[in-house]
This record gives sequence, C-alpha cells and structure tokens, in this order.
Amino acid sequence: MSKIKMNPIVEMDGDEMTRIIWQEIKEELLSPFVELNTEYYDLGLPNRDLTADRVTEEAAEAARRVHVAVKCATITPNAQRVEEYKLHEMWKSPNATIRAALDGTVFRAPIMTRRIKPVVSTWEAPITIARHAYGDVYKATEYRVPGPGKAELVFTGESGESFRQTVYDYECPGVLQSMFNKDSSIEAFARSCFEYALSVRQDLWFSTKDTISKQYDQTFKLIFQRIYDTEYADRFDSAGIHYFYTLIDDAVARVIRSRGGFIWACKNYDGDVMSDMVSTAFGSLAMMTSVLVSPDGNFEYEAAHGTVTRHYYRYLKGERTSTNPVATIFAWSGALRKRGELDGNGALAAFADALEKAVLDTINAGTMTGDLAALCPDPDVKRVDTGDFIRAVRAELEKRPL
Ligand code: NAP
Ligand code: MG
Repeated sequence: MSKIKMNPIVEMDGDEMTRIIWQEIKEELLSPFVELNTEYYDLGLPNRDLTADRVTEEAAEAARRVHVAVKCATITPNAQRVEEYKLHEMWKSPNATIRAALDGTVFRAPIMTRRIKPVVSTWEAPITIARHAYGDVYKATEYRVPGPGKAELVFTGESGESFRQTVYDYECPGVLQSMFNKDSSIEAFARSCFEYALSVRQDLWFSTKDTISKQYDQTFKLIFQRIYDTEYADRFDSAGIHYFYTLIDDAVARVIRSRGGFIWACKNYDGDVMSDMVSTAFGSLAMMTSVLVSPDGNFEYEAAHGTVTRHYYRYLKGERTSTNPVATIFAWSGALRKRGELDGNGALAAFADALEKAVLDTINAGTMTGDLAALCPDPDVKRVDTGDFIRAVRAELEKRPL
C-alpha cells in the first residue's frame, strides 16, 4: 500500500506521559499510513531550558508560516518544576507564548461516544466553547484598600487627562480592581469565532452582561454585531447558520436546555469557568479537543489536558498505565484534516476522518482506557492500558479501505 503524501505541518513535542503517548501514536497510527511530513520542534522542558525557550518562539513563528500545527501537552514551570528539572529560569507557559504570537482564540470541544452519556440528558451534539484569551481579570490591577479613602478611575489621553470618576468613597477597608481590554483584540476574537463557525458550519452564540456593564461588555457586544453585519451576515446565510447574542445568564439556561451542536463564545473569565463545566458534563477532560485559531487563518491543535504527571511517575516505576490518548490522537487528526482541506488533499482529510472513526468504533465496541471505563456502567466494557488501546484502534483502522 502506498502511503498518503502531505505538505508539512509544524509538530511541537512535549513532556511526560503525553510525550510517551505522542511517539506511540506516530508509530502505530500515523506513520504506517501517512508519509508524515513535519517541521519538528522539541518543546519538552529540557530542550526549552537548553535553548533559553527560543525553541518555543521558533515553533510559534513556524506555525504562522506553515499555518497548521499540532502540539503535545507541555509542562508550565512553577517553583517545584524549576527544582525538579534544575531549570535556569521559570520559563513562561508555552501556550501563552504561542497564543500571543498567533493572537488567537481557543476553541474547546468534547469528543462524544455512544458509551459515555452526558450528564445533561438533552445534549446530543458537542458544545464548543470559544474563549477570548486576552485581558480582563487575568491582567487586572488590584489593590487591597487598607482603610477610609477615595478610589478614582483616571484616564490620561495623549493630549492630557480626559476622564476622572470616583469609584467609591471608602469608609472602611475593602478591595479594588480595574481591568482592561482593547478593540483590536476583541475584533480578532470576533473574527476567529465567525471564521470557526463557518469552518464547522455551526451556529455561533455570544454572551456577556451588557445590561449591567454598559461600556465594557457593551463594547464586546457592539464589536461582534458590527463585524457580523459588515463581514459575515451573507456568508452565514449561505452556510445556513446563525449568529445569536444573549445575556450570559440567559445563555446558561439555554445551554442546559439545548441539544448542543453550536459554538458558545465567552469572554475570558466566562470561558475559563464554562469550559470546565461543559467538559465535565460531557464526560472527561481526556476527551476534550482544543484548537487555537488566529484571525488570519492559522490553526494549532492540541489536547485540552496536561502532561498527566501522576501517570508518568507510575510509568517511570515500570507500571503499565491506562492513560487516555484520544484527545492527543484527535489533535493529530484535526491538524491532518486541516492540512488536507487547505491543500485540497482529499486522501489526507479522509485519513483523518477514518482515524477518528476508528477511535470512536473502538470505544463504542467496549474497549477503553480506565478513565472512561469508570464512567461506563456497561458489563461488557474492557479496560485496557494505553498501548493496548492504541493497538485496538490500529486494528479497527486496518479493517477499512484507505
Ligand atoms: P493533567 O495533566 O490534565 O492531569 C490531571 C488529572 O486528570 C490526571 O492526574 C488524571 O487523573 C486526569 N487526566 C488528564 N488527562 C488524562 C488522560 N489523557 N487520561 C487519563 N486521565 C487523565 O493536569 P495536571 O496534573 O494539573 O498538570 C500536569 C502538567 O501538565 C503540569 O505541569 C501543567 O503545567 C501541564 N499542563 C499543560 C497543559 C497544556 O500543555 N495544554 C494544560 C494543562 C496542564 P487521575 O490521576 O485521577 O487518573
Ligand atoms: Mg480553568
């Protein structure tokens, strides 16, 4: 059988258990079928330290040039990791570096199988959370007010002070916070969401609290509406999909009553909270995909979970672990499908579909890793370790003509 050919994608290797799984996926599920063509960057923590994190910058640059990237989970260093890996510095989160370089929006969607029922019984199709990954409370300035005094909000424009308003006249100790965002980032967020909705042909919902936040949240609402009206309304009509704005509390109620199958765009904090709610209600963090989409059309695919450190320490002791590789396999299939779509490479896109179907068929036939087996009450379920799961997917994949 001749292997499927492809143009290059950027491959970003990572750490710990997911680095082990990464190799197994390539050897068992990709290389036998595809002449893998990747620009390889080793984002494993030892190499980030060795290159003073230049490798992360280079990988992000490459993602902008090549347009499609696939990334393994990586360690975000903290004090304990600096000690464990004898690091020269507490390097920044690779995801933060890549996000900043691509100015993108993160889309997270659950992978559904017949075996694992969502906690919300009406959900029939995945709900994708689109999280604005810039500003708000994550870049806020905060102050612990020690006692009586006046807090003011002051803006000094290039030609002098133009706004000053009392926030509160404190009569006792308290707290104070100010946060910001900027039109350019909100516009990029909006375009990423509209582009993504078109690419997957799903409705886009957006929610804020503009009735209360009459400048801040209102700005988000107005920017989305203007970009929709001027750039996307016709394209949405042709694709048969809708843009829908509502208040965040109304959105929460509607999401729970919905059948799923749409994208829910959220401000930074809302997206942080809602994505954990949605992923847990759909089943397992190990079944969440994640893709970073930039407004100028670059795509970086990864699993939503981390490097699964606890399993890695058991693996190092020689134990067989039952770590779920599904989201990492779907990161690869997502990147290969996008490469196929961008290049008109139908064979590559079809391989990505076949790989995902083989994974779902394996789980639906009852073979799954421990995290899923624990959620699945059926008596015929076979709990397997990572290697056996990947080999079962390989056997499924070989059953079908490619
Ligand atoms: P984690 O790696 O997502 O794992 C947390 C727990 O969730 C695991 O201990 C495991 O539970 C379960 N789990 C997650 N993925 C699983 C999978 N594929 N199969 C089975 N179970 C899975 O999060 P963490 O332990 O908080 O973080 C570990 C490292 O990952 C950290 O250094 C962090 O910086 C990094 N991280 C990276 C990314 C990224 O690169 N995108 C994202 C998050 C975290 P049980 O132990 O109960 O089985
Ligand atoms: Mg969070």
